[in-house]
Amino acid sequence: MTYVVTESCINCKHADCVEVCPAEAFHEGANFLVIHPEKCIDCEMCVSACPVDAIFFEANVPLEQKEFVALNAHYATLWPVILHKKPAMPDAEYWHGRSDRRQLLDPVPASA
Ligand code: SF4
Ligand code: SF4
Repeated sequence: MTYVVTESCINCKHADCVEVCPAEAFHEGANFLVIHPEKCIDCEMCVSACPVDAIFFEANVPLEQKEFVALNAHYATLWPVILHKKPAMPDAEYWHGRSDRRQLLDPVPASA
């Protein structure tokens, strides 16, 4: 099993989660973070660190967000590791609490 980043992180990316991860399991896209399922050691530290409750244990991912299990595994192999917190995205406040942003997930890796 692993932990999984879901929709609430899209366009938000506070990145508080990466600071607490002991396994360097987070990978960064242009507007979303994912967890590498083979690096995650299920410590659960990131869950309470995320201010928008975007992270779930794989078995507990809400039904309508199950596709994020595969999306995390896929993009973790393509995007660079992120080790340190960065400023949230400029429009993070606007997106807080909004749903239906799956289509906004940018497949492009974060720029260095
Ligand atoms: S803390 Fe939450 S919203 Fe921020 S980058 Fe991590 S998973 Fe995404
Ligand atoms: S559960 Fe632990 S190891 Fe897995 S991504 Fe979160 S902080 Fe990292």
